[in-house]
Amino acid sequence: MRTNYGYGRQCLDEDDVAAVVDVLKSDFLTCGPKVKEFEQAICCYTGAKYCVAVSNATAGLHIAALASGLQKGEEAITSPNTFLSSANCICFVGAKPVFADIDAETGNIDAKEIEKHITPKTKVLVPVHFAGQSCDMREIARIAKKHNLVVIEDAAHGIGSDYCGTKVGSCAYSDMTVFSFHPVKTITTGEGGAVTTNSKELYDRLCAFRAHGVHKDGAMLNTWEYEMRELGFNYRMTDFQAALGLSQLKKLEKFKARRRQIVDFYNKELKLPHLIEKDFSNACFHLYPIFVDNRRDFYFKARDKGLNLQVHYIPVHTQPYYRQFGYKKGDYPNAENYYEHCISLPLYPSLTDDDLVEIVKRIKEIL
Ligand SMILES: *Cc1c(COP(=O)(O)O)cnc(C)c1O
Repeated sequence: MRTNYGYGRQCLDEDDVAAVVDVLKSDFLTCGPKVKEFEQAICCYTGAKYCVAVSNATAGLHIAALASGLQKGEEAITSPNTFLSSANCICFVGAKPVFADIDAETGNIDAKEIEKHITPKTKVLVPVHFAGQSCDMREIARIAKKHNLVVIEDAAHGIGSDYCGTKVGSCAYSDMTVFSFHPVKTITTGEGGAVTTNSKELYDRLCAFRAHGVHKDGAMLNTWEYEMRELGFNYRMTDFQAALGLSQLKKLEKFKARRRQIVDFYNKELKLPHLIEKDFSNACFHLYPIFVDNRRDFYFKARDKGLNLQVHYIPVHTQPYYRQFGYKKGDYPNAENYYEHCISLPLYPSLTDDDLVEIVKRIKEIL
């Protein structure tokens, strides 16, 4: 049993280590066969046609925004209750980030709020599957179709989750989905991410933006020649990261089951206000936020007891950088009220039953 607990951590075993070591001893550390294998495995798991592995989810969101064609003079709508990248990717391409308030029960963007913020300049929606629970994608797809918008799912929390019987990442209700494999997320490659899509055209654009905007086709395949047709980046994943991802993906269902057990345990033992799961969702929970009256006080008392908890999230529109777009405190009351009270408890598969009893005991001492 540990004495200190963070809110999330990676779960690696000897198979994962061996998979990485194998690649380190092979011919290709990057641009080799493991990246393709990992991409195919993600397609297989999610049901999406195409997958592009990238260096992190922020890079994935950036190339998804580029592939969508979003540009200066246009707007994209996302959630204020998210990590910075969901909104920053809109700024990366020079467009204006617009927010739509959340549903307080799920922490997810409220589809009803989205329509209020649509203007003739709106081009893209970036719903974020907060804590692992899918947004109401049928409703979001309906709005997107009506207004001719591209949908990019930020599924950094969402791998392993289901929505209406489809896997998050299947892109059944969107154009692209972006996953993160940072160590606090559900499966890890150290740093890493992936973008899935069912469109060949988007896939080709994503591949080009991942690698300098360089294309090699036709007669060029037979020579040293290549052509740079747009301005791209180096957002590639390495082969040893992909090998770790492949090994982790095999354990995803086990991780999901354990995460749900932990959530059920907290619900039953703590009986504190927590997120509500909708009927359409079968979430692979990434976070377990509770809501407390004096969050600052709770945070420090928990820390004194060896619980290093985290707050998800400071509403993005309240960040100093976002003031240039005219946002201020009070603009999104549900997200702001949510932020005032939320704090995420430890949630990761390697927590033992004894760990959970200990964590619950310490939390009850604080309350
Ligand atoms: C972690 C996270 C990201 C960024 O992921 P990286 O892989 O660290 O770039 C983006 N969006 C959300 C909602 C996240 O939680």
